[in-house]
Amino acid sequence: MPDTTLANTILEVAVPSPLRQHFDYLAPGQSPVGGWQPGLRVRVPFGRREIVGVVLGSKGHSELPSRQLKRAIDCPDPQPVLPADLLQLILRAADYYHHPLGDALSTALPTLLRKGEDAAIKGESWWRLTASGNQTDPDELKRAPKQAQLLKLLAAHPDGLARDAINEQLNNPSATLRALRDKQLVEEHQHLPLLTGSAGTAPSLHAEQQAAVDVICRGLGQFQCSLLDGVTGSGKTEVYLRAIQQCLARNQQVLMLVPEIGLTPQLIQRFQQRCPATIAVLHSGLSERDRLNAWLAARDGSAQIVIGTRSAVFVPLANPGLFIVDEEHDTSLKQQDGFRYHGRDLLVLRAQQSKVPIVLGSATPSLESLNNARQGRYQHLRLTERAGNAAPPKMALLDVRALPMDEGLSSRLQQQMRQHLDKHGQVLLFLNRRGFAPTLICHECGWVAECSRCDVHFTLHQQQHHLRCHHCDAQRPIPHQCPGCGSSDLRPIGTGTERIEQALKRLFPDVSQVRIDRDSTRNKGELDKRLALAESGEARLLLGTQMLAKGHHFPNVTLVAILDVDQGLFSADFRASERMAQLIVQVAGRAGRAERAGEVVIQTHHPDHPLLLQLAGHGYAAFARDLLAEREATQLPPFSYMALLRAEATHAGEPEQFLEQAHALADRIGLDVQLWGPVAAPMPRRAGRFRAQLGLIANERQALQRLLRELVPAIAALKAARKVRWSIDVDPVDTY
Ligand code: ADP
Ligand code: ZN
Ligand code: ZN
Repeated sequence: MPDTTLANTILEVAVPSPLRQHFDYLAPGQSPVGGWQPGLRVRVPFGRREIVGVVLGSKGHSELPSRQLKRAIDCPDPQPVLPADLLQLILRAADYYHHPLGDALSTALPTLLRKGEDAAIKGESWWRLTASGNQTDPDELKRAPKQAQLLKLLAAHPDGLARDAINEQLNNPSATLRALRDKQLVEEHQHLPLLTGSAGTAPSLHAEQQAAVDVICRGLGQFQCSLLDGVTGSGKTEVYLRAIQQCLARNQQVLMLVPEIGLTPQLIQRFQQRCPATIAVLHSGLSERDRLNAWLAARDGSAQIVIGTRSAVFVPLANPGLFIVDEEHDTSLKQQDGFRYHGRDLLVLRAQQSKVPIVLGSATPSLESLNNARQGRYQHLRLTERAGNAAPPKMALLDVRALPMDEGLSSRLQQQMRQHLDKHGQVLLFLNRRGFAPTLICHECGWVAECSRCDVHFTLHQQQHHLRCHHCDAQRPIPHQCPGCGSSDLRPIGTGTERIEQALKRLFPDVSQVRIDRDSTRNKGELDKRLALAESGEARLLLGTQMLAKGHHFPNVTLVAILDVDQGLFSADFRASERMAQLIVQVAGRAGRAERAGEVVIQTHHPDHPLLLQLAGHGYAAFARDLLAEREATQLPPFSYMALLRAEATHAGEPEQFLEQAHALADRIGLDVQLWGPVAAPMPRRAGRFRAQLGLIANERQALQRLLRELVPAIAALKAARKVRWSIDVDPVDTY
């Protein structure tokens, strides 16, 4: 007799879809050994497709008539692929950010698991040169050109190359690989994305560092949140490393989040030199297999330290002991599309849930975290002095009004650069604008080259010979004549990094330089190469955008110049001045990190601006105090709680109509939430779509959450919602 109870078990399944509900399925015939636990994957029919969903629960009967119930196909897992604590975290995150659970789950799962792959570590087949392969000159293999080619390819990849990657470069390499292996020039190895570190020598801690380490380590084994507020170069990383060692000594794992740009080879090397442990690094360049292997190694505990960008907050850990968020103020910790979660905030939640201490580190803490520290929710750990012999850099405003300027470089700045170069210092110039010039204008009639799909000017890129839109990536050839009046007098207005580079070559022809921005580092390996030139001191003039601003250690930089600060002073976004100050301080922090004192010069047309004066004269802490007072007076976050409902559509007016209806719904629900808008987005058109937004702001987090809980499903059911693309952003970090 068939087991009717089993055959009639109903599974509640979350499937990857924008629908805000889960689905009931009949359990497949074969049930896993441990029963239908939450966190198991099941393959289910969905529409005409077959997809992988996640079991949320099981029950005896469904509200749906049994005719409508479909049967799940099978279950690829003997045990839940998502441990209970992680599933819990994702459920809470989807709830807090009001995002469809199925989609949140698929953001959290490695791609291969989403595709139904076994949750088992499988090393990839990689190939590398042997010692004698390394000493062989490929030209010796002239008569076997394919072998020579392969030898050259592997020589360019000292860590080896995946078989898949070799296949991409060489047609049918099997025989060639075999031939070279028989000559013992190459070997195959099983590749895992794990690094092994060792215990190197550590400097003795200075008093503030020791105090910070003590507080953090006293918290091991319980929840505690510390804000490690330490000026650039004060030794925050050293504090992390000490706390990590104590965590490892308890046989517990460490999870550290870093901003996208913070995952530098320098940082990884430092961890490898100091932590006798297995380290998994999760970055965007990993293959899908590597990502899954790293995820599984963290889950089974074999990766003792996990370092990754924001999505690593969803990496399962067998035995978590310590969480760290480096550069906790960095906006890349917040996902800006799809599932809009904040990696830092979720990690704090996870720390609470797992009862482990968490450290948020920054030289320029976010106002949110500073406020939490002030309220006593976080321990405020301060490192006020630079480690070693390094002195803090001197910051000065340079009034460029009426000074002669050459492509954005004032005469005074040029003199200072010369002085520092003469004394063998390196000079770093910061300009957060890539390309040659942000505007191309006709001098006869005033026509300006604009992107036809966005409300912005095209940026002129001279090296790539085109105009490019920095928002939708559209490209056009550079016109020779004005489309308005036919004149050929078209002039680039304003300055980008390419233009400065040209000026530097003219003004400092004898000085080696390197430019680091998204354009100059587009090719693989180029960023590392350029950073190495900057670090070694081979390049004396360093020029770049924010890629150059963060995390790097350039010991010989003695002068940092911020070329144009004025664009950051006047913006519609209430967070613009906070961001500007953070960027300035981070860039300034590259100066004088070793024995030689550093100087920071900020070129401005507004030397009397109160925020600039406060920052340059009294530092970030004083600046942040003023800004917090301002936010409190105006009841802006962190003194209130915000969500942004965004909408975009190809027809003008449709986003506003939709948002008006949302506004009316919110009014009907009532509750204590103010509504701002609908208004056009700061950039009203982007990639051909019209954009508008509605702000929701409340004095209590709970009031906002209660409203959203009712409002979001009601919005999703609106007819107008089908005409627009809409999204809800809780705690937005920018209001674009
Ligand atoms: P941060 O992370 O705050 O920018 P780091 O930890 O990178 O600072 O430290 C800056 C520099 O000072 C590094 O070269 C580091 O090796 C060195 N350093 C850190 N702590 C000490 C210490 N206690 N004594 C001597 N040097 C130190
Ligand atoms: Zn013209
Ligand atoms: Zn565009």
